[in-house]
Amino acid sequence: MKKIRTRYAPSPTGYLHIGGARTALFNYLFAKHFNGDFVFRLEDTDVARNVDGGEASQLNNLAWLGIIPDESPLKPNPKYGNYRQSEKLDIYKNLANELIAKGHAYKAYDSSEELEQQHAESEAANIASFRYNPEWLKISDEEKARRDAAGEYSIRLRLPKNTVYEWDDLVRGKIAVNSDDIGDFVIMKSDGYPTYNFAVVVDDHQMEITNVLRGEEHITNTPKQLAIYAAFGWEHPIFGHLTIITNMEGKKLSKRDKTLKQFIEDYKNEGYRPEAIFNFLALLGWTSADKAEIMSREELITKFDPDRLSKSPSKFDIVKMEWFSKQYMKRVPNEEIIKVLMSPKDDAWNELFVSTYKQSCATIDEIRKNLLIYLNPKQELEGDFKVNNVVMTFYSLLQKRDFTVEEIQSAIDETKDICNVKGKDLFMPIRLATTFEEHGPELAKAIYLFGADVVMARLNKLCS
Ligand code: GLU
Repeated sequence: MKKIRTRYAPSPTGYLHIGGARTALFNYLFAKHFNGDFVFRLEDTDVARNVDGGEASQLNNLAWLGIIPDESPLKPNPKYGNYRQSEKLDIYKNLANELIAKGHAYKAYDSSEELEQQHAESEAANIASFRYNPEWLKISDEEKARRDAAGEYSIRLRLPKNTVYEWDDLVRGKIAVNSDDIGDFVIMKSDGYPTYNFAVVVDDHQMEITNVLRGEEHITNTPKQLAIYAAFGWEHPIFGHLTIITNMEGKKLSKRDKTLKQFIEDYKNEGYRPEAIFNFLALLGWTSADKAEIMSREELITKFDPDRLSKSPSKFDIVKMEWFSKQYMKRVPNEEIIKVLMSPKDDAWNELFVSTYKQSCATIDEIRKNLLIYLNPKQELEGDFKVNNVVMTFYSLLQKRDFTVEEIQSAIDETKDICNVKGKDLFMPIRLATTFEEHGPELAKAIYLFGADVVMARLNKLCS
């Protein structure tokens, strides 16, 4: 059997988006499940849209997620040529000329104004349904020769009439499109750059890509790509088009929607767990046969099954995402979190603080925010608070004890018995009087973390 090879081929026009990361992840899982190779290469021919550092940012964010390509521009296999399209323009040009020589492509001399005019004169209401007519342009042989010499032409694929391009989509099953519904399309632009459809076919063929998983926005491109494979007489890879990712209202995610964190960078900066995002992304359009949710990278590789890719859109649920991050945060060794927090407190304190807060926080930022509550204790208790019997009793018991979690706990228990109160009536007055917060972790631990000085001073002031 042929070695499985998949790829992720972003344009370096921005940072790694949730959608791109999911595409990369599924291709990675697919390759690794079948002991194949996962390739990262760059579609950087839209020079005006490329951003500085786009490639590095894509690679770094993937690496943070734990997606390390077997081959990339930084780790090329010489057998497969260049991994950046901008470095192989000659190859596209030569192959396009080869198609011209075989009669499968031709030079089209229309200027953009002439093309617009042809469109305006055609029946097509919009450009998508417009079919290019090679007979339309009437120019003299001299003018044609002039444009040819000046390179003022694009190259179009010559589509055979009434030919069906069909593929068995991994996600959607059989899809078929007739060549008459496509029209001769551009494969090389007049500026010497290949179009996406042409370059991607050349790259996939040269890199021996066997399986392509990509977003469903590419479904309309696939028949065009099949036409190019047919013109060359090359075998095409197996395609699978992933369904869209929507927001909670069911609308396609828009990169402009600022209410959602959509870039992997955002999660990285806030201290989410990368394993959690990896796990979460794997379930955006795929489910495991055993319905498991928490799965490590290794488990996901083992369980990945392309037949289980979802046919309906997947919802990007940030609450679920946080839930995943919390599950993974609990498993992170304390030392690792302590190291990034750089808390000025002593080891024992840091240990208790981290082991308490990692149970409920999704991010390092959240843990850090909680640390500040202890490092800069509030001076005043907000709102009106009346000291009652519960607080007085607790204060007097605490004065007689060592300031340890166990002793604080036993003072709380004793207060309960003496005052004959329980639940909220017991905890809320003590919590407010000692921590100045309505919410927090287990009460005895929260009190201990503030330290004897702060807690006693607060109680003293309130009770005297
Ligand atoms: N650069 C294209 C994209 O990001 C790749 C499309 C493909 O995978 O064929 O959508």
